[in-house]
Amino acid sequence: MPLFEFRCKSCGQHFETLVIGSRTTVCPRCDSADLEKQASRFGVGGPGGDRSAGHSRPSCSTGGG
Ligand SMILES: [Zn+2]
Repeated sequence: MPLFEFRCKSCGQHFETLVIGSRTTVCPRCDSADLEKQASRFGVGGPGGDRSAGHSRPSCSTGGG
């Protein structure tokens, strides 16, 4: 379900709404379209802060033989 979190920059209202297609999301409090899209909570590990996931370093093997 395309549920997104938004925060109104006008009144600071935090809400969640369904974003279907190209509908314009407005604040349910003041009907302002100046919203700030919050980061989705899906795919978040925990209260750690390890953002170096999926980063693989190229193995440097020197042919010293
Ligand atoms: Zn608002």
